[in-house]
Amino acid sequence: MTKHALLSASAASRWLKCTAAPRYEAQFPETVSEYAEEGRLAHSVCELKVLRKYTPLLTQRQYTSQLNKLKKNALYSDEMDRTSDAYLDHIAEKAMSYASPPLVSAEVRVDFPDIVPEGFGTCDCVMVGGDTLDIIDYKHGRGVPVASEGNAQMRLYALGALRKYAPFYGESIRQVRMAVVQPRLYDAPTSETITVEELQSWGDSIKPLALKAYSGFGDFVPGDHCRFCRGKAQCRARADAHTALEDFKHLVLPTAENQARRSEAAGDAPAMLTHAEIGDLLTRGKTLLAWYTDLAEYSLGAILKGEEIPGWKAIAGRSNRAFTDHDAAAAAVIASGYDEALVYDRRLKSITELENLMGKADFAEKIGTYVYKPPGKPALAPASDARPPYSSTASDFAGVGNAVT
Ligand code: SF4
Repeated sequence: MTKHALLSASAASRWLKCTAAPRYEAQFPETVSEYAEEGRLAHSVCELKVLRKYTPLLTQRQYTSQLNKLKKNALYSDEMDRTSDAYLDHIAEKAMSYASPPLVSAEVRVDFPDIVPEGFGTCDCVMVGGDTLDIIDYKHGRGVPVASEGNAQMRLYALGALRKYAPFYGESIRQVRMAVVQPRLYDAPTSETITVEELQSWGDSIKPLALKAYSGFGDFVPGDHCRFCRGKAQCRARADAHTALEDFKHLVLPTAENQARRSEAAGDAPAMLTHAEIGDLLTRGKTLLAWYTDLAEYSLGAILKGEEIPGWKAIAGRSNRAFTDHDAAAAAVIASGYDEALVYDRRLKSITELENLMGKADFAEKIGTYVYKPPGKPALAPASDARPPYSSTASDFAGVGNAVT
């Protein structure tokens, strides 16, 4: 069974903000979603490719045999072959940037107990040579963009890797490059480069928070980071933060500026919200929506297990009619006199399906010129979102959708 650190590097962005989370979460069982399983499988494919290309640990035969085993997994898809290639391409590009071939290792266990009590983790890829250390992380998910800038998980891995390689490289490593490869979401990896001094000073700055989180005397601080907390649905602090109706009624907004504005209005608030207020309410409403969804998901699960959530019950959702036997149904329609062309739709397979069928290179050569990527519809996102702001002439805004990312 895999041992997990109480303060895991992957959850650092959460426990650095909510120091109560690790001990609170410990009472909830770990659940494994299909997405997580799929991610694990993709990581195994990535690891195999790195081991084959950069280490003498796998012969071609062993590599092929292990890859074939992974391919038998029901969650394997041809897309994994492409995304792991993108990961490998990035590693190759980084390796080429070294004056002499660096040491490249996959799935490297790193320990950082000097920063985080009992802290350890596993880096997808570590590369070291000359004055540089590269930490490369593969993310298979496409739901949540992972930024490399200020990424606590990567920085902890980097601190652990520095510690690990110090006996061999001494103080020769001066800079650390940390990259996140998320090929299903971004065409190019994102990365951050900082000096070893900057990294160490960041490590020193988080030590008190790590100690507090470990001690069991941390503070509950709700926020966006609740999203992956195992106890998010039942967390009282998070619920308290969403006494939404009161918040919305009085516009008790958190910033000093808004408090001042409210005092100014002194019960005589104008009928129309200002844009500043709308901006704040959007921010609050977004987390409110996420919280409500989590509550609903939890409650449905509890009711299906036979527990009671007063005032609520489980019902059968909407479903669509379906044929029990497609071929027999089609044959019956044709037999009753309808032309086959009217019975079946002839449809070109999707770009992804054709790319999987033909392979990336052949696809690009033969039909690449017929592919275009229209600009995405403008969508609302918080100003902190890593993607650049939408830019277009006013006419491009025709038919603006309501999606919020
Ligand atoms: S749900 Fe949020 S506030 Fe509650 S413990 Fe988890 S991270 Fe902290």
